[in-house]
Amino acid sequence: MAHMIVAGNWKMNASKDAVAELLNGLKQGAAAVKNVKMVVFPPFPYLAQAQLELSGTDIHIGVQNVCAAGEGAYTGEVSLAMAKEFGVSYVLVGHSERRALYAEDDAQVAAKYVATQLVHMTPILCVGETLEQREKGQTLSVVTGQIQAVINVAGGASFANAVIAYEPVWAIGTGLTASPSQAQEVHHAIRAHVASIAPKQACSLKILYGGSVTAASAEELFAQADIDGGLVGGASLQADSFLAIGQAAK
Ligand code: PEP
Repeated sequence: MAHMIVAGNWKMNASKDAVAELLNGLKQGAAAVKNVKMVVFPPFPYLAQAQLELSGTDIHIGVQNVCAAGEGAYTGEVSLAMAKEFGVSYVLVGHSERRALYAEDDAQVAAKYVATQLVHMTPILCVGETLEQREKGQTLSVVTGQIQAVINVAGGASFANAVIAYEPVWAIGTGLTASPSQAQEVHHAIRAHVASIAPKQACSLKILYGGSVTAASAEELFAQADIDGGLVGGASLQADSFLAIGQAAK
């Protein structure tokens, strides 16, 4: 399969100084990571810094969230057009922290997904089960249900310009990682579900794994047939560890 994607979600971390150090480290090391698409997701205030520092590198920029509406009276929100002005090309939609902490439901997630594609940016649709759902044997139905909710609105062909990130909620920020075979089982089910509606798009669809990925766990995860890279939180905050994960994806 063509190139892998390694995406770094900085969440609400960093400062101007920390961002300068991180971007500088990424700039220095990026050239050594070949045939892997690296994407960083800084908090909004650091987008200009990221755009400036990463110009001339192959590292792409994404945002962690966006408003589905175009412009107007949406206090506190940021539009896709604004993000685009800073060189943003990827948008995380439906991250489990937004679903859990900000009550984003499937309809809002689908609206953000559609709005992102309308402006020719790429949504990374995040899906995943909680520990309770896994223990009840609901993992595959939860995950395919979250994807189906987007298909119902955007259609299966929309996956020609989208990425899916499978992130078990119990593995995010906990230090617990799904085993390579647990992750592969879900990734395979995701691809099969998309294939049942959009076979052509399912073949080339990138499905990333997220949940406490480290340089140590990345290689075995990325070796699985249906894992096309990673969405990385904590380990993306240090240039060395993020670049090492990029190397593992080669
Ligand atoms: C994430 O934020 O999407 C994530 C997977 O975080 P972490 O790698 O810290 O678990």
